[in-house]
Amino acid sequence: MSTSEKAPLTPVLTKRWLSPQSWRLETYEKLEGYTAMRKALSAAPEQVIQMVKDAGLRGRGGAGFPAGVKWGFMPKDEEKPHYLVINADEGEPGTCKDIPLMMADPHALIEGCIIAAYAMRSHHCFIYVRGEALHPMRRLHAAVREAKQAGYLGHDILGSGFDLEMTVHAGAGAYICGEETALLDSLEGRRGQPRLKPPFPAASGLYAAPTTVNNVETIATVPSIINGGSDWFRAMGSEKSPGPKIYSVSGHVERPGQYEAPLGTTLRELLEMCGGMKDGIPLKFWTPGGSSTPLFTADHLDVALDFEGAAEAGSMLGTTAVQVFNETVSVPWAVMKWTQFYEHESCGKCTPCREGTFWLAQVLERMVDGRGSEEDIDTLLDVCDNIGGRSFCALGDAAVSPIQSGIKYFRDEFLALCESNRPARAAGTVASPE
Ligand code: NAD
Ligand code: SF4
Repeated sequence: MSTSEKAPLTPVLTKRWLSPQSWRLETYEKLEGYTAMRKALSAAPEQVIQMVKDAGLRGRGGAGFPAGVKWGFMPKDEEKPHYLVINADEGEPGTCKDIPLMMADPHALIEGCIIAAYAMRSHHCFIYVRGEALHPMRRLHAAVREAKQAGYLGHDILGSGFDLEMTVHAGAGAYICGEETALLDSLEGRRGQPRLKPPFPAASGLYAAPTTVNNVETIATVPSIINGGSDWFRAMGSEKSPGPKIYSVSGHVERPGQYEAPLGTTLRELLEMCGGMKDGIPLKFWTPGGSSTPLFTADHLDVALDFEGAAEAGSMLGTTAVQVFNETVSVPWAVMKWTQFYEHESCGKCTPCREGTFWLAQVLERMVDGRGSEEDIDTLLDVCDNIGGRSFCALGDAAVSPIQSGIKYFRDEFLALCESNRPARAAGTVASPE
C-alpha cells in the first residue's frame, strides 16, 4: 500500500469530540483515557521527557518552542516547588481551538497535565483560563472533580507515590495575560504585565520558583504521544514540525470551524475540507496564524502551514487561526480593526507600543474615514519601524504585522483610498462586511 493509500493518521486531538458526552470521565476512559498516564507514572520522569523530545512536539501556542526541551530546563532538584502552568488564555484574534478542546475533551488536557507535571517533578498545576470563557471554566471544574474522585489527582495517584493538585483559575480578560510572564504576574494577583526574559520561567517563574508554561493544545497532545510512540507521531507532519494540529478556519468559507490535520497542511487543502470560499466569491487575503502573523494572499495558497513553511514565506506559524477574507473586504478597514484591537490591548508598559499603537490607530481611522493622504502610508510604515523589534514583548511586533504586510501586498488599495477622499465603505473597491 502506498503512503497516499494508507488510512489517515488524524484525527488525534479531535477524535472524541463527536462522542456523546465526550467531556465525561466515563466516555474518556472508554476511549483509551488515562492509559497514557498509567504508562508515564511507571516510567522515570527523564524517560517521559525523552519521549516528548523524541516525538519533536513543538509548542502549539504560537511560537513552536520544542516542548520536551522546555521541560528539560526544569531543575532536577526540588529545592523549591516546581509549577506547571497551562496557558488557556486564548485571545489571539481568530484563534478558537483551545476553548472547543477544553469543552469537548477536558480530560485529555488533565491527563496531559498529570504526565507533564510528573515529568517535571511538579506537584501543583494551574490552568489559567480566559476570564470570559465561563463554559470551559465550569467544564474544567467538573472534570477536575471527576479526576479527583477517580484517584487521578491528589495524593499518591494510583499508588504511584506521585501527588498533584490542580487549580483552575479565571483570568480577567486581558489579551496581554496570554504572554506567559504577564500571565504569571496575574496569577500571583498582580496587574498582568510582561516580565523581562531571561530569566525564563524555568529558572524563575511563578512565585520565583521553577515553572513551565505550556499551551492547552500542546499538553492535550501529550497522552497520544505516550500511547502512540514517537515514530507514530512523527509519521504526521514534517521532520521539523511533526504531529497533528488544529486549524481554526473562520471568515468567508462555506463551513468555518476546527479542522484537525497534520502540520504542513496548506490553505488550498483546508479550503477543500471546509467546502471552499463562501458563495464562490474569490479569496483576497488571509492570516495563517491569527492577526499577529502577516497577511497572506492568493499567492500563498500552497504555503505549508508548519513552522518552517510559514517562516520561508516570511511569517510565523502562530496559532493556526486561518482567517479568510473575500474580495468584498477592504484591506485598510480590516487592518484598522486589528490595530484598534492592539491599541486597546497594549498593556502600556513600554513607550513604543503604548504610544505607537495609539498613533497607528489614529492614522488608519483617518484613512478609512476618507481623510487620509499618500504621506499617511509612509507615516504608518515609519511608526511601525519604531515599534517592531523595539518593544518590550511580542505584542508590539504583532501590532505592526498586519499593517506592514497589508501595505506590502495592497499598497495600491491604500493609495486609491487616500486619493478617493471618500470613506472606505463608499470607495467601491473597499466595501466593509459590516
Ligand atoms: P517566545 O519565542 O519568546 O517563547 C516561546 C516559549 O519558549 C516560551 O515559553 C519561552 O519561555 C520559551 N523559551 C524561548 N526561548 C527560551 C530560552 N532560550 N530558554 C528557555 N525557554 C525559552 O514566544 P512568546 O512571546 O512566548 O509567544 C509568541 C507567540 O505567541 C506568537 O507566535 C503568537 O502567535 C502567540 N500568541 C498566541 C496567542 C493565543 O491566544 N494562543 C495570543 C497571542 C500571541
Ligand atoms: Fe505592554 Fe505593548 Fe510593551 Fe508588550 S509591547 S510590554 S503589551 S506596552
